[in-house]
Amino acid sequence: MTGAASLEQIGDPEALEPLEHVDVLIVGAGLSGIGAGYHLQTKCPQKSYAILEARECIGGTWDLFRYPGIRSDSDMYTLGYSFRPWESDKSIADGSSILSYVRETARENGIDRKIRFHHRVMRELWSSEDQRWTIEALRTDTGETVRLTADFVLMCSGYYRYDEGYAPPFRGTDRFAGEIVHPQLWSEEIDYTGKRVVVIGSGATAVTLVPALAEDAAHVPMLQRSPSYIVSLPAEDPLARTARRVLSSPRAYSLVRWKNALLMMLVFQLSRRRPEAMKRLVRRGLENNLPPGYDIDTHFGPRYDPWDQRLCLVPDGDLFEALAEGRASIVTDQIDSFTENGVRLASGGELEADLIVTATGLNMLALGGTELVVDGRTVELPKTMTYRGMMLSGVPNMAFVLGYTNASWTLKADLTSEYVCRLLKHMHVRGYSQCVPHNRDPSVTEQPLIDFSSGYVLRSIADFPKQGSKRPWRLHQNYALDLLTLRRAPIEDGTLEFSRHAPVMRSPQPALVTAA
Ligand SMILES: Cc1cc2nc3c(=O)[nH]c(=O)nc-3n(C[C@H](O)[C@H](O)[C@H](O)COP(=O)(O)OP(=O)(O)OC[C@H]3O[C@@H](n4cnc5c(N)ncnc54)[C@H](O)[C@@H]3O)c2cc1C
Repeated sequence: MTGAASLEQIGDPEALEPLEHVDVLIVGAGLSGIGAGYHLQTKCPQKSYAILEARECIGGTWDLFRYPGIRSDSDMYTLGYSFRPWESDKSIADGSSILSYVRETARENGIDRKIRFHHRVMRELWSSEDQRWTIEALRTDTGETVRLTADFVLMCSGYYRYDEGYAPPFRGTDRFAGEIVHPQLWSEEIDYTGKRVVVIGSGATAVTLVPALAEDAAHVPMLQRSPSYIVSLPAEDPLARTARRVLSSPRAYSLVRWKNALLMMLVFQLSRRRPEAMKRLVRRGLENNLPPGYDIDTHFGPRYDPWDQRLCLVPDGDLFEALAEGRASIVTDQIDSFTENGVRLASGGELEADLIVTATGLNMLALGGTELVVDGRTVELPKTMTYRGMMLSGVPNMAFVLGYTNASWTLKADLTSEYVCRLLKHMHVRGYSQCVPHNRDPSVTEQPLIDFSSGYVLRSIADFPKQGSKRPWRLHQNYALDLLTLRRAPIEDGTLEFSRHAPVMRSPQPALVTAA
């Protein structure tokens, strides 16, 4: 569980002494945390660092989600790290291959030795007097409290709650005689062979689950309240195969990565500027993939414009194939209630089921549920503004990784870690001990951090920091632009303020843990 335990569980912080100091503390050992470790040890080898991870293993999302068919929904040439070529032929890869890729990156580079598992960071306290963070973590295996200090904190804690997904309160769930499972809690024991399985939802998870379940289940209806835009892409990228034959692996990877990054930007821009043209393109793809006469308007005609919510990708049209073969179906309706035998629809019909999968989304969570305290005052995240999409106004020496929502997460994660390394080097060279973004421009207005109309975003975005209307407070969601500014723009831009303070020197403390 991440973020849901109370601070009372970690004892009285005042009674504890710091135990150990690292230059940089990374929180989270998922895709981003491992990437951050690599960038840090490569670009700032003189900096000591540790990674605190709440769970017992590396991988985050790619270890947590175990539902049938789990795979990426963006291509691996951009979801892979900039520094480690994705060498499989599969552009859309299954979850276990992605997990192996992340774990191998950690092992090959010794990043795994920097990780302390079972450490859930609960609270981070900045002291201007000491010029450092004190981090309080709960040992999830023993219940003990661990404290350490760091000059800089890099949050790689993802964007959602790990302990539970979002499940709307449907009426009558207690009456249903079969099993109900949320994909986030899927376990290998669930046997769906020959069973009637209803999947509720229409997002990336639902469109992944349906064709995978339909291979062995009796029949799989996907029950959706409203449709999504769905596009089929080849599971293998033809350019990648050719490029690998004629170029070295890193060059081939870079070429395909750029091609895909540019393509994603083009599709996003076209969707935002010429939504009608984009709708026609998506529809043409559907007409080519679905059986003649299929009711595209009802089942594939969203009420919003393309990329107002995340576009769903299906590799090699696997969903359409399952629909064409009658192994799966789409039902666009409202749920009235669960019954003993399945789901009663608002239109009057009933879908019979042995197993119901609620692919109804995530619960977003900012900064892994960590409480931030700056000089004794708890930071109210919604009152902060994001600087370059990675730091918070008024919060010193802290950055966070939030990947793109309109392209692969890692494109931005890599840029963020690279920028943090630039920043750390700059501070080291100039002898600065503190950097903090300050918004002194009254013409910068507040905007939601994520500009999506998806339910999971709207449900939680009020708890997140805001973005601003202008640079450097604005999130551009544009890889090319971010690449230029994060790699080239001057670190000292008048907004990020630096200072030198002589921290109060304390004698080193012996390692100390306190029972909860
Ligand atoms: C099912 C699914 C499919 C996805 N597919 C794609 C895709 O195809 N393409 C794409 O770009 N994005 C995708 N995403 C988004 C995805 O989350 C990112 O691609 C990426 O995996 C995020 O990596 P991360 O390391 O930043 O976060 P996570 O994978 O969420 O890892 C965060 C880690 O931090 C740890 N942590 C959190 N809070 C704390 C704390 N307080 N203390 C200590 N540790 C903590 C967690 O235990 C976890 O290990 C998908 C998301 C989901 C849920």
